[in-house]
Amino acid sequence: MPYYPPEPFRIKMVEPIRLISPEARQAAMQAAGHNLFALRAEDVFIDLLTDSGTGAMSQAQWAAIMQGDESYAGARSYYRLAEVMQDIFGFEFFVPTHQGRAAENILTALLVKPGLHIPSNMHFDTTEGNIRARGGRPVNLVIDEAFDPTSTHPFKGNMDLAKLRAFIESVGPSQIPFGTMTITNNAGGGQPVSLENLRAVAAIYREYHIPFFIDCCRYAENAYFIKLREPGYAQKSTLEIARETFALADGAFMSAKKDGLVNIGGFLAVRDPKLHQEICNQLILREGFPTYGGLAGRDLDALAVGLREGLEESYLAYRLTQTAYLAACLRDRGIPFVEPPGGHAIYLDAGRLLPHIPHAEFPGQALGAALYLEGGIRGVEIGSVMFAYPHPDSGEWVYPKLELVRLALPRRVYTQSHLDYVANVCCKLAEKSSQLRGYRLTYQAPLMRHFTARFEPLA
Ligand SMILES: *Cc1c(COP(=O)(O)O)cnc(C)c1O
Repeated sequence: MPYYPPEPFRIKMVEPIRLISPEARQAAMQAAGHNLFALRAEDVFIDLLTDSGTGAMSQAQWAAIMQGDESYAGARSYYRLAEVMQDIFGFEFFVPTHQGRAAENILTALLVKPGLHIPSNMHFDTTEGNIRARGGRPVNLVIDEAFDPTSTHPFKGNMDLAKLRAFIESVGPSQIPFGTMTITNNAGGGQPVSLENLRAVAAIYREYHIPFFIDCCRYAENAYFIKLREPGYAQKSTLEIARETFALADGAFMSAKKDGLVNIGGFLAVRDPKLHQEICNQLILREGFPTYGGLAGRDLDALAVGLREGLEESYLAYRLTQTAYLAACLRDRGIPFVEPPGGHAIYLDAGRLLPHIPHAEFPGQALGAALYLEGGIRGVEIGSVMFAYPHPDSGEWVYPKLELVRLALPRRVYTQSHLDYVANVCCKLAEKSSQLRGYRLTYQAPLMRHFTARFEPLA
């Protein structure tokens, strides 16, 4: 039996869930245009669509909510959050935003012009979408191991330093308004980035005078991976590792719905006072006054507490071991997924499980739909539905290297028996994988089509 850690909390409030009948699941999928995003959540039994905003808040967070100061400007809640922000991230300035993409929207509105390039280890979908919406070109330069789902490299989220340097030389640093790193690498399997790699990336960006921003949604999980895996960090606290991480950057943006342990929230943080002023001007136009930025005062207080809880090592040890437990259950039964398991999710390898379905017929969509029909489990496709795009020059479809279905674990929500159930359903599906068929798109939006696409099953 793989090890499952005792949760470092006990349950004091419960939310009922139910498994509807196979016929009802079939009907629900038809009504949803076979898009899992269009299901009613109450028709889902185990919801692993995302770990974003789906976590359980602690009693301390709920207590902090009662102290929210709803003053329009200069609320105490803002200053409580600012103190925590300074302690962990250490940037000179920050603004709260309602979530991560709002921070990305403001950053790209200010810095991205048509034709400019933004390198990263790998951009996530909203970051890509925001860059493309401004006419920019997102570029992924992660190490090759990231595309080998069997490689057990300890830091598969690392940037390929040679590729980064060659890319900057080829387009010229003037064509790169900023560079980023995503920690952990969500689009590439929730894989961590080492501090050694972050230091080297920061040095390259600095050499070419390219501002360096960290997409830090899962910085706490990344810090714990560093503590576990990077030589020299076993004795450092996750807080010390986080501080060392952010000291390397000129700014950061975060969806606090991840490691901030809140249901809504985010921020954009910078060092440059001029950029901060421009950010505040954009924020006032789009989000709100700089001391609340699209959130209620109570949300700022929940985040101030959540950021600290998200760095607690007992919590992080439980969190990463829980993910590793589900991975071990799947590995034992020969179900292909991206190794090693990431921090927040397991990425089932639909490409390997369904080799008879080509990219254009969406193997990830086929597996995701089947998981729901078989067991009421909702994951999310991270493959050609999410990431294929027509090449800006040739118009030909460019497909991603991996076709995955992400099973993201909400924080502090599901228990061992829920994960055992998920592993059993995956196992049943693997036994009849050759019977699964692909899908055809019947509707797609021009950007981030996965959220609203509609499909038809192929015969
Ligand atoms: C979730 C996420 C975002 C976007 O944040 P939202 O709060 O969903 O807008 C950006 N980057 C990464 C890596 C993410 O995981």
